Amino acid sequence: MAIETLKKPARCSECGALLKPGTRVKIYQKSDGTRLIYGFTCHKRKVNEEEKQDQPEELKADWDFISGQLADIQSLLMQIVDILSARKEALSENDTDLTAADWRKFWMKVKQMGFDEKQVHEIYNTDSMKKVIKSKEDMERVLSELKEIAF
Ligand SMILES: [Zn+2]
Repeated sequence: MAIETLKKPARCSECGALLKPGTRVKIYQKSDGTRLIYGFTCHKRKVNEEEKQDQPEELKADWDFISGQLADIQSLLMQIVDILSARKEALSENDTDLTAADWRKFWMKVKQMGFDEKQVHEIYNTDSMKKVIKSKEDMERVLSELKEIAF
């Protein structure tokens, strides 16, 4: 069961009420993939007399309020997850202490050993050495590996 905010109009699976975009709804995904959508306030819940006594209207209203709050928290968490994963991607691209000068020196040394850029890419099976070398240690390692196979 998920609580979502409708992006497009839907009908309540319980009572058929039209639920407008922006309405909080409960969504049940059935095993065959169809989604059942239930509004929170459009229909009275089917409860037996005993449950009605245990669950006065006031309490039910509270629960609807809490469900709404939970949906807010859920969507905030999703936003946080999005932010964190975006940050992680940015880090994996940019988290390197290598400067343009380091790369110039790297290619200079590589050329001194008799390799050109295309050959190095072929050796490391990549289209960019930036994918292989993420740190100065990586750069030193690649240079010594190339040195071993240089003529
Ligand atoms: Zn309904």
